[in-house]
Amino acid sequence: MRYIEPHGHMVSRTTDDYQDMVTTGCAAVCEPAFWAGFDRSSADGFHDYFCQLTEYEPKRAAKFGLPHFSWLCINPKESEDLALAKDVIGIIPQFLDRPNVLGIGEIGLNKNSRNEMKVLEMHVDLAARHDQLILVHTPHLEDKLKGTRLILDVLRADKRIRPERCIIDHVEEHTIQLVLDAGFWAGMTLYPESKCSPARAIDMLDLFSHERIWMNSACDWGVSIPLAVPRTALEMKRRGWPVDLIDKVVYRNPIEFLSQCPKFKLP
Ligand SMILES: [Zn+2]
Repeated sequence: MRYIEPHGHMVSRTTDDYQDMVTTGCAAVCEPAFWAGFDRSSADGFHDYFCQLTEYEPKRAAKFGLPHFSWLCINPKESEDLALAKDVIGIIPQFLDRPNVLGIGEIGLNKNSRNEMKVLEMHVDLAARHDQLILVHTPHLEDKLKGTRLILDVLRADKRIRPERCIIDHVEEHTIQLVLDAGFWAGMTLYPESKCSPARAIDMLDLFSHERIWMNSACDWGVSIPLAVPRTALEMKRRGWPVDLIDKVVYRNPIEFLSQCPKFKLP
């Protein structure tokens, strides 16, 4: 098997996880900037985190032969403080030329608040000005549908943004069609407890689309499984999916989206 992990928070994982991923056929891992489990107190904290994502973590992954790419932003959970968000967005351009940076993400909404919306618009403007791909986090549970609608409205309102260059992650049964119909890519996050189980993800692939869609484990410091993508691929096989179609969803689809950034190259 070969697959791409298009959304994994590797800074919170051990080297054992890197070994397991490579052993199961992972060909590249992409790491969006996210909430670290605590609120950072200054833009300097984000500066250090961006250095970790663009310098240290690619080196750690390279020890296991795994190409590592990253996405940069201030995540929605820390976007309530507009002054901090402005400072952080101000330092991002100095990192955008780094060789493993694919775009702006994971931006989006957490509680659908007014300030989160402002920061989302600032990120979309940043991506448009620097011609960057966009990776979007959608809120959880009861806020998801409303949040997804708000996010799509913001992206569509900016005429510089092309939907095929944006992926809306953490889609579920009630948001996937909305995203695909508007021309965006959709990501399904495979979590053991929340978000989307492997069975639900495969049902959605059966019901909706094999095009413009990827699966990820989002493996972070919470309850999550770094091998969720290959395990789901095995479950697809058990359910009778053709090997070529599994390969398309777990390998060729993410490559198709990510290759829109010329820096995404596999050895
Ligand atoms: Zn994430």
